[in-house]
Amino acid sequence: MTLFISTRGDKEKLNFEDVMLKGLAADGGLYVPEVWPTFTKDEWRSLVGKPYVDVAEFVIAPFVGDTIPKAELKAMIVEAYASFSHKAVTPLTQLDNNQWLLELYHGPTIAFKDVAMQLIAKLMDRALTNRGQRSTIVCATSGDTGGAAVEAFMACERIDLFVLHPDERVSPVQRRQMTTSASSNVYNIAIKGNFDDCQNQVKAMFNDNAFRGEVALSGVNSINWARIMAQVVYYVTSSLALGGPDKICDYTVPTGNFGDIFAAYVAHKMGLPMGKRIVATNENDILKRALATGHYDMNKVVATTSPSMDIQISSNFERLLFEASGRDSDQINQMMNSLKQSGQFEIDSKTLSVINQQFEAGTADENAVAQTMKSSLSDSGKLIDPHTAVALSVAQQHLGDNPMVILSTANPAKFPDAVKAATGIHPELPSHLSDLFDRAEKYDILDNDATQIMQYIKTNSRAIR
Ligand SMILES: *Cc1c(COP(=O)(O)O)cnc(C)c1O
Repeated sequence: MTLFISTRGDKEKLNFEDVMLKGLAADGGLYVPEVWPTFTKDEWRSLVGKPYVDVAEFVIAPFVGDTIPKAELKAMIVEAYASFSHKAVTPLTQLDNNQWLLELYHGPTIAFKDVAMQLIAKLMDRALTNRGQRSTIVCATSGDTGGAAVEAFMACERIDLFVLHPDERVSPVQRRQMTTSASSNVYNIAIKGNFDDCQNQVKAMFNDNAFRGEVALSGVNSINWARIMAQVVYYVTSSLALGGPDKICDYTVPTGNFGDIFAAYVAHKMGLPMGKRIVATNENDILKRALATGHYDMNKVVATTSPSMDIQISSNFERLLFEASGRDSDQINQMMNSLKQSGQFEIDSKTLSVINQQFEAGTADENAVAQTMKSSLSDSGKLIDPHTAVALSVAQQHLGDNPMVILSTANPAKFPDAVKAATGIHPELPSHLSDLFDRAEKYDILDNDATQIMQYIKTNSRAIR
């Protein structure tokens, strides 16, 4: 069974359920498996042609270990992905001779966050029921995580969900997907600030041990290991569909918090043969600059047509730094302290060269994004969203002999204004969301102020003992 350790050196080793319920380690670090479970080529081969849920069970089982009985795990996986509108769950679409879109947006909120969130809600509710506990989940969103969390957790008896989004910086579709839930366990807070402010507020709550204990705090941002784990699955299904494990694919991933592309790295660490992993950023290109120079240096967040990637603090990058530094938690602590104090840190040349062997990076500016939405439509009849367009644009600079898989992270209908401006076509919402703009909204606007936000949560959470 896999045990998990913190990137910041805390000596405690935890099992899957504890790691999932805690979210962030007590020392502020992120959890990673102590040892990577691996599979042989023959084992991967045995999954070729199998349903998504079977592959999911196979990939997830070694992490979960004996914390969940096999049959129960399978039942939760089946239930989670029954909410998807496509039988393949994450189908591939061919774009060009050797380019493929991996469509991750067939879940209830039509963006890729559903893939992990639908499952983690079931896993958490079960764990809390078994323990006779309640939990308060606080989550920061740049737009899509919030809606996916609301949709996934609104039926959870034992959880109160608080979603922090940056006021007026999410699309109207994104906002309404969070704020129109009638569930009494869902609270939406619009913070007067940007996404990094929201994420910093959540991190500050996790670092406040008194508050953390009082409200039984948990998190479902991609700092939560269970999210990453669920996202490993579609790298496996797509690779196997395109000839793996005997052939390898390259992957281009539209990146913000480095969660999705870290899941690609995990698939690779688990023994799945893989070609290049390409980090695609929008004009918020901190990761691209960091990989090129070794200098991680925050700029101001600029608002783009791909708001879910408008990020300067890329949380999961810490997991990669931990890996690439040879799991040197002293070095991680130094870098993270420097980030907190001065908004920057240096990656030493040895660690950087390890990272550069594992990842390439590219940026698409707003003009390239619009052009790519247009050319995708004219070249292959495929309407894509701006996040997908960032990846498709960057992928063009990194094509080789392997099939190139471009992760398509949102349905274009989630970002109708940008899509219409680039292509002239107004993408329609799927029927289950067609009344979204008629539903009543419910949210509160708060200052970017920790005391105010924590008081709001304490007043409303039912986990207070
Ligand atoms: C969250 C999100 C991303 C970025 O994923 P990370 O795991 O944060 O790197 C890209 N596209 C869309 C549509 C998203 O919602």
